[in-house]
Amino acid sequence: MNVLVIGNGAREHAIIYKLAQSSLCEKIYCAKGNAGTLKLATNVDISPLDFEAIVEFCKQNSIEFVVVGPEEPLANGIVDYLNDFGISAFGPTKKAAMLESSKSFCKNLCKKYAIPTAAYEVFDNFDKAFEYIKDAKYPLVIKADGLAAGKGVVIAHEGKEALMHLQDCFNNKKFGQAGNRVVIEEFLEGEELSYMVFCDGENFVPMLASQDHKRVFDGDLGPNTGGMGAYAKAPIVNEIEDDCKRIIKQTIYALESEGIDYRGVLYAGLMVVDKKPYVLEYNCRFGDPETQVVLPLLKSDLLDIMIKCTNSNLNDYKIAFENRFAVSVVLASKGYPVSSEKDKPIFGLDDVGDALVFHAGTYKKDGKIFTNGGRVLNIVALDADFRKAIKKAYEAVGKVNFDGMHFRRDIGKKALKYL
Ligand code: ATP
Repeated sequence: MNVLVIGNGAREHAIIYKLAQSSLCEKIYCAKGNAGTLKLATNVDISPLDFEAIVEFCKQNSIEFVVVGPEEPLANGIVDYLNDFGISAFGPTKKAAMLESSKSFCKNLCKKYAIPTAAYEVFDNFDKAFEYIKDAKYPLVIKADGLAAGKGVVIAHEGKEALMHLQDCFNNKKFGQAGNRVVIEEFLEGEELSYMVFCDGENFVPMLASQDHKRVFDGDLGPNTGGMGAYAKAPIVNEIEDDCKRIIKQTIYALESEGIDYRGVLYAGLMVVDKKPYVLEYNCRFGDPETQVVLPLLKSDLLDIMIKCTNSNLNDYKIAFENRFAVSVVLASKGYPVSSEKDKPIFGLDDVGDALVFHAGTYKKDGKIFTNGGRVLNIVALDADFRKAIKKAYEAVGKVNFDGMHFRRDIGKKALKYL
């Protein structure tokens, strides 16, 4: 069948890399894609939020299946829209995507169904939230309710910081509608873990647990980014996998009980505190950069799994992963995450040996590849030995270069203590 993938990051490149191996897949298109997706798919210049144009494109190109990468089109109801035109799509409906698009919805669901999460309060106006932060215990986590591309969450260490974020949300409208409501929650100290599963509304199949590196600098310092690197399988999960599965089971039960049929990737962002996982958030799609380390290890047919999720017949599907580790290092442009340069030629992409290169912000012009935004490339190495996977990833990173390139040098380091 012909497939259209929506999105333009390294996550979508990794999805396409895996779909291209499927015996069920004929032609792959990507809207809008990048210089990496171009090698395996036909890039099309349609915005992920232009649903009308997407349907028109699907009709004209006999596309039977659409895979949605990013959260924004899901939160805006792309799956419902495509289904209305008889087109199958992988991902949750608008209602189900609220698990990610509304933090108060997520927290209230956790509370109602006793899913472990940080204690919290929800506020719809500045005055009440301000009263609350005056007497609160710090640090406190303050979250704009809606989607804010990772910028809506602040860990406030004192009242002044909390006040500034409340002002940004309610008064300065920094996050638009997303900031009309805030969740204020207890700060949890621990290690973060990304637990993604395929879900068909009733059944689920876990992927390998992974860990992201959100801060821009080594040692988890500096501002948050979209993610500077990842690894899988994260060994921290070994002792707590049953708890993680229980959380997913409880979540699907909670959604079903609320009349929500959740199909697609269900991603639980967990904080592991004293060997106990707590839900920090849910994402309604594949993680970026986690997907870039999880999918290269998947042995099963990705398109087959996605179709089974969509048709609700995942039942006893046995999903297989390689018994190796994957480590991914993100190469970013000068200034990222505060600003980012563009249009710098990239060198050395053919010299990385066995490593995989998933493109994010890149484009191709006159046969050359150029940077096109903050996160530019993900360099991924696989090995049965975790330390060797790290070494191989950094050897490959050493071959690639562009003006202003920066990256973390400690990806995977925090996992070593569990090995
Ligand atoms: P946005 O909605 O702006 O896109 P997001 O969906 O990434 O943000 P969260 O995942 O809820 O928001 O929070 C972002 C980060 O903040 C988490 O990855 C974690 O590092 C930190 N964080 C969130 N909640 C807590 C908490 N209760 N305790 C400690 N750290 C937290």
